[in-house]
Amino acid sequence: MKNLFVEDLRVIAAGLPSDPQEWPHIPCPTCKRSGLLVDSLAEEESPLSKSQQAGGFDWDPSYIHGKFHAVLKCPKSKCETVRLVGTTGHWETEKYGWDQYYEPLFFLPELPLIQDFGTCPLSVRDRIEAASAVLWVDPSSAANRLRAAVEELMNHHRVPRMGINKKNDEFRLSLASRIEQFSANRPDLSDVVDPLTAIRWLGNAGSHDTVLKVSDALDAVEILTHIIHRLYDTSGEMLIKKVEDVNARRGMPMSRSLDSPPF
Ligand SMILES: [Zn+2]
Repeated sequence: MKNLFVEDLRVIAAGLPSDPQEWPHIPCPTCKRSGLLVDSLAEEESPLSKSQQAGGFDWDPSYIHGKFHAVLKCPKSKCETVRLVGTTGHWETEKYGWDQYYEPLFFLPELPLIQDFGTCPLSVRDRIEAASAVLWVDPSSAANRLRAAVEELMNHHRVPRMGINKKNDEFRLSLASRIEQFSANRPDLSDVVDPLTAIRWLGNAGSHDTVLKVSDALDAVEILTHIIHRLYDTSGEMLIKKVEDVNARRGMPMSRSLDSPPF
């Protein structure tokens, strides 16, 4: 199943347009259903940008830059208000000429990455939320935190963290070795081994000199979503149980309590 949050976040990562009315769907971290609306927006051009506008070189509007902050609210009053901080810049569009855009750096609280975790353990979910917190400002670090979520998945499947070498010393097993062990333990889940490895590669790239983009980290989220649904989604089993119940009752409704309205 498609991760619709990732679809939303890819659009946000392309830059938010100058008119807040035109901002794409920003998923609410509280209800995970509605889109956030801009309640207030303030921006400030940087002193360097102002001085550059004074001239002295071949200036164009792409040199205009600054910072902004916005308060975003869900239409549902009980949902938490979200603060957004980021930078502003200008790009040249075919339709409007030079136009301003907003580039997010932090959403507080962080935006949701996965809608349905099923029975996925909290330790894995915590790592994924930690990745979301730095997704915009440091996508390499986010990919690394998603790799840590895979380590937690291995823990949950009781794959040892430590091995013993020939000198009888304990050593920390690499994630590659742990995934191999998982593959040997669970041949019935062999289809998730390549996806686990893909997140390991993206996380490794994020740990080294490679600078990942938000889209790379979102690739890792998409792959991780697939793994979590494969390992922890129980909706199929629940549906089968419901089908069995309906068939056992031959479609007759279950007895209704007296205080339930008949509709
Ligand atoms: Zn909400």
